[in-house]
Amino acid sequence: MTNNVVIVGGGLVGSALALELARRGVHVLVLEKAVPGAEASSAAAGILAPRVEAHGHPEQRALGLQALASWEDWAASLGVDVGLTRCGVLVARDESPDPDAVMVEGRALAERAPGLRAERAWWIADEGMVDTRLLVGAVHAAAVRAGAVFRSGLAVERVDRDAVHAGGERLAGTPVVCAGAWTSLVPGVASLPVSPVRGQLVAVGATEAVRSVVFGPAGYLVPRRDETVLGATMENVGFARGTTAQGLRDVLDAALRLCPSLGAAPVLRQWSSFRPGSPDGRPIIGDVDGVMVASGHSRNGILLAPLTASRVADTILEGRPLPAAWSPARFSRAG
Ligand SMILES: Cc1cc2nc3c(=O)[nH]c(=O)nc-3n(C[C@H](O)[C@H](O)[C@H](O)COP(=O)(O)OP(=O)(O)OC[C@H]3O[C@@H](n4cnc5c(N)ncnc54)[C@H](O)[C@@H]3O)c2cc1C
Repeated sequence: MTNNVVIVGGGLVGSALALELARRGVHVLVLEKAVPGAEASSAAAGILAPRVEAHGHPEQRALGLQALASWEDWAASLGVDVGLTRCGVLVARDESPDPDAVMVEGRALAERAPGLRAERAWWIADEGMVDTRLLVGAVHAAAVRAGAVFRSGLAVERVDRDAVHAGGERLAGTPVVCAGAWTSLVPGVASLPVSPVRGQLVAVGATEAVRSVVFGPAGYLVPRRDETVLGATMENVGFARGTTAQGLRDVLDAALRLCPSLGAAPVLRQWSSFRPGSPDGRPIIGDVDGVMVASGHSRNGILLAPLTASRVADTILEGRPLPAAWSPARFSRAG
């Protein structure tokens, strides 16, 4: 059994895996080139919507639902409030997003989103959201309490089968690459098709106009306790940081079309980050030339983090197979 694991990347995926492995008695070292959780994971809107985000792929939907089912216990195990709520998801689009979605209108719609312009929308009752600003710190702290060691400001330069090289040191252990959008820049797993997909977001003041997550044709609304998150662009612009006039306009246009009263809300902040994009939007998790990789979570890394952690830990410690829908082999010539 592996008793020494070195994780590359301290985002939510790396931190959740560190937590899981440390709880199972493994010595875990996490190497983070910047600050744990400071990239996509804390920037994310935090929507937990496996049905809308499955885009018709049955295994991805099933895995997303499995992940969703684990969230209450996992969040409770962190010991602090992470703003997890099953507030439900409204989808203001013509097409039904999923067989479980039911059409609501009139008072049933007004109770969930009094400010919505649409006269009817699809409702999924058991989905929700988590506050990623609280989540990343909570998972990091829980992993440290469980015994995982984090080293920040240390960029991994190379990964071998039994060690990681960073800052002139060779750190022995079983490597797991959780480097998010930067995964294909890590020598050793550079063949993977993970690329950054920038998302711009805007937060405006909290509102009573929306009480559940709302997806529209071109954007979404996330009603946190102290702010409303409006999102998000999907841009292939490499690692260009920051927000743009066009990006913010697109986000605000989409949001105000859904809920015009948001036009009077104060703008609190704006930001962007990089989703770890994969060609089909599904994670890429498994062995790549002898190195375990857990990346490519695209739009669903928050939802899938607890499930990713438990499935990768099962594989490393017990040899259990990983889901075929996530296999890196689907991008190889033979796969
Ligand atoms: C705008 C936006 C909105 C989103 N909304 C949602 C949502 O509502 N629901 C949802 O489920 N998901 C959402 N996501 C997706 C989700 O944020 C990601 O899938 C998830 O955070 C990926 O986690 P990660 O740990 O792989 O990546 P990250 O959080 O980016 O962490 C990767 C870490 O690896 C580190 N790293 C990289 N290279 C190296 C190296 N060589 N050495 C050491 N460290 C390294 C980085 O510094 C970084 O901290 C959203 C993403 C964005 C950008």
